[in-house]
Amino acid sequence: MTRRLSLFGATGSVGRSTLDLVRQDGNAWALSVLTANSDVPELARLAREFRPGLAVIAEEARYSELKDALSGTGIEVAAGAEALVEAARRPADLVMAAIVGCAGLAPTMAALEAGHDVALANKEALVSAGELMTAAARASGATILPVDSEHNAIFQCLAGGRIDQVRRIILTASGGPFRTMRAADMAHVTPAQAVAHPNWSMGAKISVDSATMMNKGLELIEAHHLFPVGLDRIEILVHPQSVIHSMVEYVDRSTLAQLGSPDMRIPIGSALAWPQRMETPCAPLDLAAIGRLDFEAPDETRFPATALCRAAIAAGGARPAQLNAANEVAVAAFLAGRIPFPAIVDTVRRVIDAEAPAHPVSLQDIFSVDAASRAAAQHFVDQLEHA
Ligand code: NAD
Ligand code: MG
Repeated sequence: MTRRLSLFGATGSVGRSTLDLVRQDGNAWALSVLTANSDVPELARLAREFRPGLAVIAEEARYSELKDALSGTGIEVAAGAEALVEAARRPADLVMAAIVGCAGLAPTMAALEAGHDVALANKEALVSAGELMTAAARASGATILPVDSEHNAIFQCLAGGRIDQVRRIILTASGGPFRTMRAADMAHVTPAQAVAHPNWSMGAKISVDSATMMNKGLELIEAHHLFPVGLDRIEILVHPQSVIHSMVEYVDRSTLAQLGSPDMRIPIGSALAWPQRMETPCAPLDLAAIGRLDFEAPDETRFPATALCRAAIAAGGARPAQLNAANEVAVAAFLAGRIPFPAIVDTVRRVIDAEAPAHPVSLQDIFSVDAASRAAAQHFVDQLEHA
């Protein structure tokens, strides 16, 4: 049976891995929508290969470029933020949310409101608007299938179990490229060093988040929304090999883990095929070759981001949206060479300390907090740069 797939963020790391799996079994999927931010040649190339009904470029000014690139193909073309939202409402059996950042929130919400099942990679959307997104899914009957490897692992470990019989969720973390680095040396790390993750090949933003451990903090918030066991029941455990992708401990002290090679096509394949399983081209797990698995407690003195995230979710409301927006700005500033590495988390903290956002009741409220927080973070970045 052919299923209709809409893929948001087709040109990114998760997007390309998704298409890699679709390519393997061309008969299983019909592409409904493909989107990208600004890379018209790549989006056009993918559209010619996968023949979606509609291709959307987020940057409005690139509409005619995309239209020219796809002329004669019969593929519909659209551009801009509103077009992304409309595309998300199109009929689909599954929507893959693989845009990076809060930019993915509006289309992901539209997909959930339309009742489409969503394979969710775009963690920033859930961090910013977790309550609204889970409420929208409940109201429409849509299922959120986590793609983030840890959350996909937890989701798999919860299958056949009951959430009210969970004692603990253990979120594993690689510790990133600076796991063993002294705090003083972190002031000098370069963007190139920060994006060179030891185990995973990912987009630049999430790679920097892994280096600051903000990624694990965002994942804590993500887990809190996806698996309502109580924040105090979600723990972080550093596991440098990234073989165990997370664990669930039940009340009887039985602990279930999901293991696999660090290849995103495994959790993506799990979400695409759920509740079935599909073949993937991923390397089998060779535990004899790996030899040993190591574990250590996280160091929140050198990596304060996870504690900031825990406090943000405890504060609730729009705090996580504020934190996420500040982090997006600070990461971009670090990648552009404007601020040093430790200033990423410092900027987030300064934005949070400067103002408590009003409680959000609508998506519009989240967008207002997001915009204000970006402006505040930009202000601190400018100050730092000119200090
Ligand atoms: P990426 O930077 O490689 O790709 C991002 C995609 O989003 C691209 O297709 C880009 O065109 C699109 N995009 C960027 N800005 C946009 C905007 N303003 N409007 C519309 N589209 C925009 O990122 P990635 O590594 O694939 O990550 C995507 C999401 O998945 C992130 O939320 C990330 O945290 C999450 N995730 C990624 C991985 C991974 O292995 N890469 C693992 C777990 C979770
Ligand atoms: Mg992850």
